[in-house]
Amino acid sequence: MTFKTDIEIARAASKRPIQDIGAAIGIGADDLLPYGHDKAKVSQSFIDGVQDRPTGKLILVTAINPTPAGEGKTTTTVGLGDGLNAIGKKAMVCIREASLGPNFGMKGGAAGGGYAQIVPMEEMNLHFTGDFHAITSAHSLLSAMIDNHIYWGNELEIDTRRVVWRRVVDMNDRALRQITASLGGVSNGFPRETGFDITVASEVMACLCLATDLGDLERRLGDMIVAYRRDRSPVYCRDIKADGAMTVLLKDAMQPNLVQTLENNPAFVHGGPFANIAHGCNSVIATTTALKLADYVVTEAGFGADLGAEKFMNIKCRKAGLAPDCVVLVATVRAMKMNGGVAKADLGAENVDAVKAGCANLGRHIGNLKSFGVPVVVAINHFTGDSEAEVAAVQEFVAGQGSEAIVCKHWAEGSKGTEALAARVAEIADAGQANFAPLYPDEMPLFQKIETIAKRIYHADEVLADKKIRDQLKAWEADGYGHLPVCMAKTQYSFTTDPERRGAPTGHSVPVREVRLSAGAGFVVVICGEIMTMPGLPRVPSAESIRLNDAGEVEGLF
Ligand code: ADP
Ligand code: MG
Repeated sequence: MTFKTDIEIARAASKRPIQDIGAAIGIGADDLLPYGHDKAKVSQSFIDGVQDRPTGKLILVTAINPTPAGEGKTTTTVGLGDGLNAIGKKAMVCIREASLGPNFGMKGGAAGGGYAQIVPMEEMNLHFTGDFHAITSAHSLLSAMIDNHIYWGNELEIDTRRVVWRRVVDMNDRALRQITASLGGVSNGFPRETGFDITVASEVMACLCLATDLGDLERRLGDMIVAYRRDRSPVYCRDIKADGAMTVLLKDAMQPNLVQTLENNPAFVHGGPFANIAHGCNSVIATTTALKLADYVVTEAGFGADLGAEKFMNIKCRKAGLAPDCVVLVATVRAMKMNGGVAKADLGAENVDAVKAGCANLGRHIGNLKSFGVPVVVAINHFTGDSEAEVAAVQEFVAGQGSEAIVCKHWAEGSKGTEALAARVAEIADAGQANFAPLYPDEMPLFQKIETIAKRIYHADEVLADKKIRDQLKAWEADGYGHLPVCMAKTQYSFTTDPERRGAPTGHSVPVREVRLSAGAGFVVVICGEIMTMPGLPRVPSAESIRLNDAGEVEGLF
């Protein structure tokens, strides 16, 4: 059997004008700011005007620990949104925008896949409405103003060895990870070491995604720490006086982008913070607005549930006052097999025993998610090679955990493939069974917050951190940052800090290498293991096969 590629399916979509999509959820043409025919931003005055409406049900899609086999969270998010609409519910999808760099590296877009996609997928995966370019520009303005301040006499007494604000570009470019800036003589400033991160790793991105409106965004930008003085006191973005101009550059980027699914259902695609150095969910403004426009909002968190869902609950929901009504945990037979020890090359062969062995990982995620007080349904994202016996093994295991697993074929069939899941999710959300609570209170000391996550979510025995790190956390508590949530940065492949340890390990320790304060975003980043803020390209980047065909269409983008 041959299958159409994602881009072939997307190109054949019969899209409706974006004004029709807006009208279906009550956004009039005057409140849509169109970018072409099939994308539009939603005006702030419209958003202000819907605040008193009732709030819809919030459904989070998350997954088991990712494997190279691919799990399909975004595909399932889009498929479930379409499935809910297909059974007569008013539903919206909220997902993240795509980072440009990775699209030219490894294959795999951000718009979903198969018959569960957001369109226009080429544009969504490329420049889209320019939000990420605006973020790059706002970030770069601050970078330039810091060096300019130092150049013109450094009145703030910035220690040039302790400038923590780096530069960003939306590209995978390992050559820029560590650089020396201001070389070339007196007129170019004072040479110092710095480096580039990818745009999605910028704290500006995290601020935009957590801000409730432009005023809140400006305050958060002002709160960002850009450098330290010799006495270690912080210098803020506000001290550099960049916050106002940065907000100007971001005023359009702050508005949610309305697009549609292949089945012409509405979707907000907005924001895209990195899931390691930040919280990895779409913007608060998009999610909260969607909840006023639809009865059900389906959204996604990055990586596996130990990282993505944990941050969704403890950071995004806490900060935005959101409470999920149901969690959909995506699992695949293939990933169960990999968790059960099967190599990627052998995934094609039926192996019920390996599926059963790999289910331990799934079971732990179910238990963890329930500990937030939210009901969990497992979605088995069906791949054409899955055998009935393998699928049955997953369902049996999940039933033994007191949950249920529903087979979904949205990738191959669109909404028809998720109607069963949609019906169950709607039923659970409507029943109001959820009793959501974040894992720890604001008042808990920072180190204890880290321990709580390590023990309750990773099932580790202990957190290892030397005195320097503990002292740093105490110093931030003394400075008034103790109430912040923590943003864990560890490998997404394992509950432990070792990417090779699949399944559901116990008895491990979580070593903390470094802690960073994101005072504008409003969290303390806890780095356990390697953390990548500027990816590289693979040996054969997918850029090599991306081109325009004779009809002027994009080829090779997935
Ligand atoms: P995630 O959001 O978890 O990173 P995506 O939903 O983006 O994953 O899917 C990753 C890739 O896997 C996409 O290219 C998508 O087309 C593919 N994919 C997802 N589900 C299936 C499926 N059931 N069968 C085949 N390919 C799939
Ligand atoms: Mg995704």
